Amino acid sequence: MANESTQRVKKTVEVTESFRDRHSNTTKEGQRKWVYALKPQGRYYNYRSYLSWFYLLIFFAIPFIKVNGLPLLMINFPEGKFILFSKIFWPNDFFIFAVAMVASIIFVALFTIIYGRFFCGWVCPQTVFLEFVFRPIEWWIAGNPAQQKKLDAGPWTKEKIFKKTLKHTVYILFSFLIAHTFLAYILGVDEVVKIIKEPFIDNIGLFFGLVFFTGLFYLVFSYVRDIVCTTICPYGRMQSVLFDKDTMQVSYDYGRGEPRGKIIKGQEQELGDCIDCTLCVQVCPTGIDIRNGVQMECVGCTACIDACDGVMEKIGRPKGLIRFASENQIANKENFHFNFRMKAYTGILIVLTALMTYLIVTRESIDISVSRVKGQLYQEIGTDSLGNLFSAKIINKTRNEVPYEMKLDGIPGTVRMINSHKMVLDKESITDVNFFIDIPKSSIKKRTTDVNIGVYSNGKKIQDVKSKFLGPFI
Ligand code: SF4
Ligand code: SF4
Repeated sequence: MANESTQRVKKTVEVTESFRDRHSNTTKEGQRKWVYALKPQGRYYNYRSYLSWFYLLIFFAIPFIKVNGLPLLMINFPEGKFILFSKIFWPNDFFIFAVAMVASIIFVALFTIIYGRFFCGWVCPQTVFLEFVFRPIEWWIAGNPAQQKKLDAGPWTKEKIFKKTLKHTVYILFSFLIAHTFLAYILGVDEVVKIIKEPFIDNIGLFFGLVFFTGLFYLVFSYVRDIVCTTICPYGRMQSVLFDKDTMQVSYDYGRGEPRGKIIKGQEQELGDCIDCTLCVQVCPTGIDIRNGVQMECVGCTACIDACDGVMEKIGRPKGLIRFASENQIANKENFHFNFRMKAYTGILIVLTALMTYLIVTRESIDISVSRVKGQLYQEIGTDSLGNLFSAKIINKTRNEVPYEMKLDGIPGTVRMINSHKMVLDKESITDVNFFIDIPKSSIKKRTTDVNIGVYSNGKKIQDVKSKFLGPFI
């Protein structure tokens, strides 16, 4: 029986093998094959719609959300200033970003090994904007795929000019809105409002930046579209090295579906469950036929699952001819089980997320580094003490002025500031100070003594800094 099924599959694959000759969005002649995707209908599309609307709401709302006067998220690359969960991060917090970058790469890799391109189809901004903003605009103005094809192929009538002009005007307006929102993530919403109100000549650089990004988004969502996912995006290109036979992905159950063929009433037919209606192909936003097997152009959007489930329901056959499954599940008819490998990877993902959260939450608002001034030996202070000269760099990452003082902990002695330093850190500032540490000779037992400097603000210790005190050879 299994042998018979394999034979049927081989036969079908021979017929459809030509799909490998060219890219999914290229015709035989090498021209761009425009994807006219049909609107999917079904439970996965509904879930994706809810998720995308929530996502869009969050995307447009975040720049307006402030906590303690600070934006929730701001990524100001030009000034090297980053705000995450209303906490300011400075260039010296770079290690957190380095850990975050490494953790994100590992996270994405592990997630992909287990769940395939689920991210692309459900969460990637490119898919969310294209499938839930720009394509619905197209369906609304130009109609379903058949009407769109007819309009494109037809002459430039008044109706065509009107529909095309309206569609592209709405596209440009949305691209303009997206570009401004991105700028608000970089500069903050107050700055963007200020720029809008001011004469454009005062912000000519930013004006051209906005025009450039509006044009870029318009080009991506009106013309480049699926090529971003199938050709340009590096994450998409990594898939082939991350997938294995246990990776969960949108898959066609070829054993059950083949040989495919249309149902002819009153005829005895030896066919699989696929009735070759091609609905799964018509809804695909990258224009592929999932029945040809797993392909790197598949973004895992699950539109074909919805389409095929609808067909199976109508013809009274079990759903799931196309489903989210691994190659091993399809080939060996295994049930899904959360195997050891998946558990291990998921465990690592949880640890990485916890580590990132810990680093962000425990990050100090005042950062101090202290070092002994190079080339300086100890000095005699009076008759009974020795002094060492130190320098400190203090970063106040808060939006408030912070009074502070430094004291020695665990050893007798004093911290003596040089000159009349005001002992208040300006808000969002970096302060360089020099000071002496004086220690009684009786407390110095060796050439190098460890010292702990306690930094206090309003009587509360905010940080401990360790350094070394240099004395005479003993
Ligand atoms: S094959 Fe299915 S899951 Fe993959 S991109 Fe096309 S419609 Fe989406
Ligand atoms: S939607 Fe289902 S039945 Fe129709 S062609 Fe695709 S796999 Fe076959």
